[in-house]
Amino acid sequence: MAISPPPSLPASAPAAAPRAVAARPRSIGWRLVWTTLAFCLVFILASVAALTWTAWNAGLARMDAELAQIEQIYSGTLSKAIWELDREALQAHLQSAQRVPAIGSISVQVALAHRPAEVYQASRPGWKAPGRAPTRQLSLSYSPYPGARETVGSLTLEGNERVLWQQLRRQMAAIVAAQLLQSLMLAGLIMLVFHRMVTVHVRRTAAHLARMGPDRLGQQLQLERPRTRQDELTQLESGVNQLQTSLAAHLQRQQRYEQELAEHRDELARRVAERTAELRTANARLQSLARTDPLTGLPNRRHFDEAQAIELRRARRHGQSLALLICDIDCFKDYNDHCGHAMGDRCIIAVAQALRESLARPGDLVARIGGEEFGVILPHTDPQGAQSLAERLVQAVADCGIAHAHSPAASVVTISVGLAVLAPEADDDFDALFQRADAALYRAKAAGRNRVAGPAHTELPPPE
Ligand code: GH3
Ligand code: MG
Ligand code: MG
Repeated sequence: MAISPPPSLPASAPAAAPRAVAARPRSIGWRLVWTTLAFCLVFILASVAALTWTAWNAGLARMDAELAQIEQIYSGTLSKAIWELDREALQAHLQSAQRVPAIGSISVQVALAHRPAEVYQASRPGWKAPGRAPTRQLSLSYSPYPGARETVGSLTLEGNERVLWQQLRRQMAAIVAAQLLQSLMLAGLIMLVFHRMVTVHVRRTAAHLARMGPDRLGQQLQLERPRTRQDELTQLESGVNQLQTSLAAHLQRQQRYEQELAEHRDELARRVAERTAELRTANARLQSLARTDPLTGLPNRRHFDEAQAIELRRARRHGQSLALLICDIDCFKDYNDHCGHAMGDRCIIAVAQALRESLARPGDLVARIGGEEFGVILPHTDPQGAQSLAERLVQAVADCGIAHAHSPAASVVTISVGLAVLAPEADDDFDALFQRADAALYRAKAAGRNRVAGPAHTELPPPE
C-alpha cells in the first residue's frame, strides 16, 4: 500500500506558514562569555575599591612605622647636636634624614633659654603640607650625665604623600592586571568548556531535528559523548528519541486509519452503486408496472394514452395512416353473473392473450383500456389492413372456445370490434378517432355482436 504522509507532517520541510527570514543564530557561549566578563568587571571594580582602601591604610601604617624607625634613629644624634649647639651637625642630620623617601618634611624645634625657639627644617622639593601622610612629633631630650635629663627641643616628621600614592598605584595596577587576566582566562575557559560540552551537542540536535521528516523518524539522535554522562543533554537526547518513536507510532496508526477509511469508502461506494442499480431496476419495474395491467399483463390505459399521442404525432409527421380498434367482450356481464367473477377474470386473461398473439407487427399495440375492453393501435395501417386484422382478432377470440351459454351472439365468448382509421390528411385528433371507433363498436354490438364494424360499415358475420 502506498503510504502518503499525513497533512500534519509533510515529507519535506514543513511549509505551512511562511517562515521569517532566519536571523544568524547568536551563540549562547558568546553570551555567556560577555555575561562573565561584565560580571568580572563589576567584581574588579568592587574588589579594587575594597583593596584600594585596605592598601591605603596598609601604606599609612607602613609609613608610620618607617617614620617611627627614623625617629628612633635620629632622635639621639639630633638631641646631642642640639645640646652641643652644633648647628652644622644638626643641618647635616636633617639633610640626611630628608633623603629617606618616606619623609616629606623633617623639622627640629630647638628650645633656647630666654629666647624664642629656633626651627630647622628640611623638606622634599615640591612637598606640600598638610597631606594625608602620617605626621609624628617627638620631644627631644638629652642626658648630659647619668641621672640628668634635659628637654632640648622637638622633632616633627611628616610623611611623603607621593610615596603613598606611588605605592598605591603600583599595587592597584598589579591587582587590576591580575584580575583582568583572570577574568579573560575564566571567560575563555567557560567558552571552551561550554562549546565542547553543550554547544556542539545542541547544534547537532538542531541539525538532526531540521532534517527530520516522516520517512526519517526511525533515525535516532545520538550525541557523540560518553554514555556514562547523565545530564540535561542526555534528557534532551532521550526526549527527542521518545518523541520520534511516539510520532512514528502515531503516523502508523493514522495511516492504518486512513487505509481503513479508504476501504470503508470503497465499500460504501460499491454498496451505493449496488443500491443505485437495484433502485434503477426497481424504478424501471415500477414504471413498467405503472403502465401494465396487473390482470392481463397487457399495457394499461395510461400506456395506451401515452402511445396514442406518440403514434398520432408519428403518423402526421410521416403522412402515414393510423388505425384504431376497440374490442369489447360480448355480453360479459352475463358471463360474470353465471360463471362467477373469478371465471370472468380468467376469461379476460384468455381474451387478452388471444389478442396479443394475433398481432404480428412489433409496432402494433394492444392494451386493456377498460373492464372488458381492449384498444389496439395499428400504426402505418390502411383501412383494409385494419379490417383484416380486426376480423382476425374476432376469429381468434372465438377460437379460444370459452363456453358462454348466455350469449345471444354465439355459444362461446366473442368480441365485437369498432374500427376507425386516421387518414394522413385528416386533421382531427385522437379523441375524435377514438369516438369514431367507439361509435363503430356500438354499431357492431347493435348489428348482433361478434363482428367488426368500421367506417366502411363492413361487418363480419358471426363465426360458424
Ligand atoms: P355488451 O355485449 O353490450 O358489451 O354487454 P356487456 O355485458 O359485456 O357489457 P356491460 O358493460 O353491461 O358489462 C360489462 C361487464 O364486465 C360488467 C362487469 O361485471 C364486467 N367486468 C368489467 N371488468 C371486469 C373484470 O376485471 N373482471 C370481471 N370478472 N368482470 C369484469
Ligand atoms: Mg364494455
Ligand atoms: Mg361488453
